[in-house]
Amino acid sequence: MRQTILEKLSILSDAAKYDVSCASSGVDRGGTKGVGNTTSAGICHTWTGDGRCVSLLKILMTNDCVYNCAYCLNRSQNDVPRASCLPEEIVELTMEFYRRNYIEGLFLSSAIEKNPDHTMERMVKILDLLRNTYGFYGYIHVKAIPGANPLLIEQAGYLADRMSVNIELPTKESLRLLAPQKNHRALLMPMQQMKHAMIESKENRKKFRQAPKFTPGGQSTQMIIGATEDSDYTILHTSSALYRQFSLKRIYFSAYVPINTDKNLPAITSAPPLLREHRLYQADWLLRYYHFDAGELLTPERPNFDLDFDPKMIWALNHIEQFPMEINKVSFEELLRIPGIGVTSAYKILAQRKVKAVSYEDLQKMRVSLKRAKYFITCKGKYYGGISMEPALIRSALLPPKEGEQLSFLL
Ligand code: SF4
Repeated sequence: MRQTILEKLSILSDAAKYDVSCASSGVDRGGTKGVGNTTSAGICHTWTGDGRCVSLLKILMTNDCVYNCAYCLNRSQNDVPRASCLPEEIVELTMEFYRRNYIEGLFLSSAIEKNPDHTMERMVKILDLLRNTYGFYGYIHVKAIPGANPLLIEQAGYLADRMSVNIELPTKESLRLLAPQKNHRALLMPMQQMKHAMIESKENRKKFRQAPKFTPGGQSTQMIIGATEDSDYTILHTSSALYRQFSLKRIYFSAYVPINTDKNLPAITSAPPLLREHRLYQADWLLRYYHFDAGELLTPERPNFDLDFDPKMIWALNHIEQFPMEINKVSFEELLRIPGIGVTSAYKILAQRKVKAVSYEDLQKMRVSLKRAKYFITCKGKYYGGISMEPALIRSALLPPKEGEQLSFLL
């Protein structure tokens, strides 16, 4: 029986929910009664490069995949409801939602329909219709399909605001095991192409103001966590190399959701490893904004993050010889290494130091997390930790009650 567009929307927006590279994919607001529901219509929210929060129609063009990746709900061997939209149907949905003010943009991904070229060609057609026929200037994030002709990737890049290729898994070996139809090199090639096209486009725009922009929002990727035996050390090193080589804006980690059974998948029967995902995001933050290096946070001998403490705290406990740091003397970079002190409070400390010495009370007013910082600092020469500076003692003083533990925001 022929599916209606709303039936297709329901299947394809639901199928897109496992892709987290469009930031807040977990948005779940509203219910089945009353007015407004962000999930049933496939609406999610994301942050643009300039910091605005925009609502997007998040949808797959098709979930009818010819590939059979072990971890994926849409793999060819699964018996799930399938749907495919014509490019014109996605365009119609986007324009209708946009006109009704439901969305400000589109997050478009797709399973592999027939082959990568066929899929990417259709996605480019959607973008072309939106931009050039309907004059749609809203935000568009589109997935680049690995293995597609570079010309198609280029066309998409000049029409979209952001592009991403999912790296999927941290190593070639893991990819071979769980997604044998994918090829590590084919995943990296569009990333490389996009990096060069972005540089070229910036150079061209310096010479000609009207030169077209190539993915002005940059590129990102997504990695599945916990579907293989790869350690946090491996994941972090892969992430660090990806940031370095392809100037990625962001790497999204996605805790493996056990939806399939497969001899190559781990036997996870409980919830997805969300705390591990959270620790990796904290470490990623340290690499990008706190001047840490992947090799400082984990080693081959200690390859996984401690789930009890955030990575910065663990680094501090393992380098206790570098503490206490005198808050009125250390550099900005050193301030950032103190647990409980974030970028904003480090700037506030530096600003006050120009006028007068910072006291312990001043730190409280600056909203420094003294609960953690007090074991690692002196203020005007005085130590406020109250216990001897031994990692084991600090650990037990800091350990939160196990039940109902709250995830601490990284400072
Ligand atoms: S290519 Fe793999 S991950 Fe992507 S939709 Fe198909 S089966 Fe799923």
